[in-house]
Amino acid sequence: MEINLTNVRLLLLCPENSQNPEILVKGTRMKDIIADRMRFIDASGIRKVFALAADLKDPVNLSIGQPDFDVPEKLKESAKKAIDQGWNKYSQTAGDNELRTKIAQKIQEEFGWENPGTLVTNGVSGGLLLTFMALINPGDEVIIPDPYFVIYKHVVNLLGGKCVFVDTYPDFQLPVEKISDAITEKTKLIIINSPNNPTGIVFSDESIKALAEVAAKKNIAVMSDEIYEHFCYDKSCTSIAQYYDKTILMRGFGKSYAMTGWRLGYVAVHESMKNALEEMTKIQQYTFVCAPTPFQRAAMAAFDYDVNEFVRAYKRKRDFVYESLKDTFELVRPGGAFYFFVKAPGGDGTAFVQKAIKNNVLIIPGNVFSEKDTHFRISFAASDDKLKQGVDILCDLV
Ligand code: PMP
Repeated sequence: MEINLTNVRLLLLCPENSQNPEILVKGTRMKDIIADRMRFIDASGIRKVFALAADLKDPVNLSIGQPDFDVPEKLKESAKKAIDQGWNKYSQTAGDNELRTKIAQKIQEEFGWENPGTLVTNGVSGGLLLTFMALINPGDEVIIPDPYFVIYKHVVNLLGGKCVFVDTYPDFQLPVEKISDAITEKTKLIIINSPNNPTGIVFSDESIKALAEVAAKKNIAVMSDEIYEHFCYDKSCTSIAQYYDKTILMRGFGKSYAMTGWRLGYVAVHESMKNALEEMTKIQQYTFVCAPTPFQRAAMAAFDYDVNEFVRAYKRKRDFVYESLKDTFELVRPGGAFYFFVKAPGGDGTAFVQKAIKNNVLIIPGNVFSEKDTHFRISFAASDDKLKQGVDILCDLV
């Protein structure tokens, strides 16, 4: 039997089959030291981009998903102070108590949740892994609007879950009806991400409310990835937590304060979902142990730090890129985050990205974030100079 997604899923359900010597993976026996589940992770799309880019000298890099500003001085000082003051040991598994109190206060103010559950994680990625591990059984279905942030698909697959993609092309709005139609007995979780990576779209308040109603009717949990919560340019961004208690809320510090390397995020839940959070905390205990302690201490100062100046700068960059590309490319104006998801001329994302890289501009093909390969992602988290160079080159390629 050759390996494909269906029979590897079967193997995860019935691991005893993995001893079957007839099962071949790319010509090697299953006794290969690598676990069967690793067949689910395909990093080839991104790797191809990096391989192509390796020879470039001083490329116009519009592929990076992190702010181009540095951590604010005040927060750097807090981190240094925390280290000097001896906050260098493990924290509690669920996070530093004072930080968790601050997070809980913010959540209570925003959503009126009394006594919410909180867990400080190793970036939002850490929170995503813990959530999926604690919730997903092999065979469980997870509904994911497509395009999507890369981690979701690969970790769900890794755990033997089944991704059910719901197409959001061409406007990338939240497809509430399609999500409702995709729900089955096996649906365990719905994932939403607004502002969105890779589209930059902010889902409307009405659509989020409508999704909350659908999810409530079927009693399905929603995981809401709000890592870009501060990067909202035209109106405030709605969180589904406002309408739905069965929300697993993911937030982070990395993007908002340019501290992606500090690896700090958090999960927050309504009191009624604390049992799920306890399971996640158990996994954290045996995996990450805790988020980096000095940075947890430093992050407390972040709650009082006003990021409006950065948000205004990014709004201006968004406007510049939109005005520069709109007459040449088919694209939707993003309301948040720092990405454009642009239709590739000719409808072949990878081909266009290869052409762009040959011309010194680094962008990412749509198939890294989607089951389709018709688009490409531009990050506008770059200097004004680089953005200007990048959009000029891209327009010249059409
Ligand atoms: N979710 C989304 C939508 C993201 O874009 C990212 C980072 N690119 C993450 C989660 C992971 O963030 P972190 O660095 O905090 O793990």
